Amino acid sequence: MLSAISRYGARVLPNTEEIVADCRSRGTLIQGPQIAEFEEAFARRVGGGRVITTAYGRMAFYYMLKALDLPAGSEIVMPALTFWVIPALAQAAGLKLVFADVDPATFTLDPDSFERAITPNTRVVVPTHLYGLPCDMDRILDIAGRHNLIVLEDCAHALGATYRGRPVGTFGQGALFSFQTLKPLNCYGGGAALVQSPALAERVAGFAYAEPWPSEERVNKRLFTGKLQRIFIRPWVFSISSFPILWLASWMGANPDVYLWEKIRTLSPLPAEYTERFPNVQAAIGLAALGYLDDWTRQTQAHARLVTESIADIPGVVPPVVPPDRTHVYYQYCVYGPDRDKLVVNCVRRGVDIETLHVDTCSDLELFGDARTDAPGARRAAEAMQIPVYSDLTDEQVQRVARTVRAVLSEAASGA
Ligand SMILES: *Cc1c(COP(=O)(O)O)cnc(C)c1O
Repeated sequence: MLSAISRYGARVLPNTEEIVADCRSRGTLIQGPQIAEFEEAFARRVGGGRVITTAYGRMAFYYMLKALDLPAGSEIVMPALTFWVIPALAQAAGLKLVFADVDPATFTLDPDSFERAITPNTRVVVPTHLYGLPCDMDRILDIAGRHNLIVLEDCAHALGATYRGRPVGTFGQGALFSFQTLKPLNCYGGGAALVQSPALAERVAGFAYAEPWPSEERVNKRLFTGKLQRIFIRPWVFSISSFPILWLASWMGANPDVYLWEKIRTLSPLPAEYTERFPNVQAAIGLAALGYLDDWTRQTQAHARLVTESIADIPGVVPPVVPPDRTHVYYQYCVYGPDRDKLVVNCVRRGVDIETLHVDTCSDLELFGDARTDAPGARRAAEAMQIPVYSDLTDEQVQRVARTVRAVLSEAASGA
């Protein structure tokens, strides 16, 4: 079988093993000075505010909601298209969920839909910079300001992206970042809150730092999983291991994604692994990774440009829209085309693994009960397909992605 290109690529430091060995020999795997160093470096990198590390990005969000101490019945407006865990944690924190639609052109919160979702009980809005593109922040901040709402940005996909030259994460009272394996800054898990007001930051820190330290066993397991992931997404290993599953599934109409992701379920009470501190070894990895972030972002953007150039002229194909006032970091590169499911199957058969929906149409999930609502923009957005452009693809691989996607899309456009 031909070698295959995975849908996912993790950003991996050349010296991960040395960093881990160094922490081990100093006895700073769990507690150590690099946590505070990383928090300060991260705050400097994003540009202001105080950074508080957490076991997951989602927990940064949860602690910020707890720290706000909002009255019972407070409502939170969230985009209908996001990772299901974030609205589930808003519910776990005691807020009433209200979904607003997204603009299917940009995949991000539609300001008009946000404004329509506001009631006298609305207290918070969450602009999610989905797939790495900043939301329309001027309009969102204007609406939030007029209604006196707190803005918490979800930057899990968008570290390094800018809106009118200013980095995401600095527009709201608070922001969350994720350091999961596939996210822009890979620490093999973890996350952080970026909080502007010192008083609110102190309260967030009060929650986050009161959690127990993870056991050495758990951290070792996490590092080991990271090592396996690093091995398994190398093209040749991917080809002989997980790709045959995807390849077979493409002939059987099965969706192997359902086995890869966390099961959708209620999050209250919180799962035990959520309520821990972020360990020193992962901070040490993050600290080193910050030095590579700009290069990784530039590589990903160059790959995205190459794919866009190769498909932009095909009738019926819509590459990602980037409004001129923003930069896109392409955590996911999303394209609309005719007959998506057939396209994906045809790409997979030619060895390019394509993902269809990286997040969830939360407004349709049973989990959210009465908060479910009609969000046509989110449903439309869920029809896009996600083409691999991640930073660690080689030039040759990204050219192959572009060629394959172009061939498959052109065939579909000409009705072949
Ligand atoms: C990954 C992600 C998060 C939070 O990530 P954690 O897994 O909790 O670190 C938040 N929002 C979105 C949209 C995400 O994709």
